[in-house]
Amino acid sequence: MNDFIRVAAVAGAMLGATPVLAADPPTSPIWHEQKVKNYLPHMSWPEVADLLMRSDLVIIPVAAMEEHGLHGPIGTDFLNSNEEAKLIAQKADILVAPILLPGNSPYHMGFPGTISLPAETIQKVYFEAVQSLIQHGFKRFLLLNGHGGNAATTRFIVDRVNQETPGIAVEVGEAIQPYLAKMRGAEGAKPPVAATPVFDRHGGTPETSSSLYLTPNLLDMSKAKTAPLKLPEHMQKMLPQVVAEDPTAKLVFLAEGLKAKETGKKTSTREMTATGVWGVADFASATAERGKANITRRVDATVQFIEAWNKLRPSGTK
Ligand SMILES: [Zn+2]
Repeated sequence: MNDFIRVAAVAGAMLGATPVLAADPPTSPIWHEQKVKNYLPHMSWPEVADLLMRSDLVIIPVAAMEEHGLHGPIGTDFLNSNEEAKLIAQKADILVAPILLPGNSPYHMGFPGTISLPAETIQKVYFEAVQSLIQHGFKRFLLLNGHGGNAATTRFIVDRVNQETPGIAVEVGEAIQPYLAKMRGAEGAKPPVAATPVFDRHGGTPETSSSLYLTPNLLDMSKAKTAPLKLPEHMQKMLPQVVAEDPTAKLVFLAEGLKAKETGKKTSTREMTATGVWGVADFASATAERGKANITRRVDATVQFIEAWNKLRPSGTK
């Protein structure tokens, strides 16, 4: 009996009347999701069968469960790639099939809550899930990677699907490049960024902006904080070139940076930052508007790619 019902019952008894119990609603008080069209976990099997008549294309977010600073949810990479896939599927009428929550994040294990699976396990789970979808008649697969640490694994899954099954797979990040380039061309110069660019990667202002657009109530921006970065000395020295987007500096910096503590490189997040944010940009520049612009551009580019793919290889082509 909750307090309200108890008070109502006592008041009823005092009045000598039959107590009228204010009933709790018959549904869970914490359920808040709305049914999203084409989102597999929300669909009935006849709805999946109907969708199969319209499209043989599936988008699969490749997710991660890892620390995202003091302000962002552990599920950021799962949530953001899943929400982006849902937005794409509303416009392109394709299936969204989330498979796994964790990804490959060994270098974030110094922060509680991070779950990391080996790349081998991850690729096997996605590959076998794709085989299930192929059995049902889905043919084409778009893998949307939400976490840098899954990049090679995602490419490997795409290749395995193409090499070993009747299915055809493409990676979203690669597919949208020409469409994003066209948009940048149409918009003229790049959108304005910070006057003096600074190092701004994991859990930083671009990712936080995306979260502020996609899952705003899961962030606590009052806690958002960068930390002084502790980089190995030679990496600290090359940082200005990395920030200036020098391709060679960036390549060797990222080859060494953000690696598991066990590698001895001293570049796991816990060794480089006390907050978990790998960057030094001021969080004042993280906004929902910025996230919206970025995500909308990516969603539109993906929809344009899908339209082109549908022309080149229409749904139902055997
Ligand atoms: Zn992330």
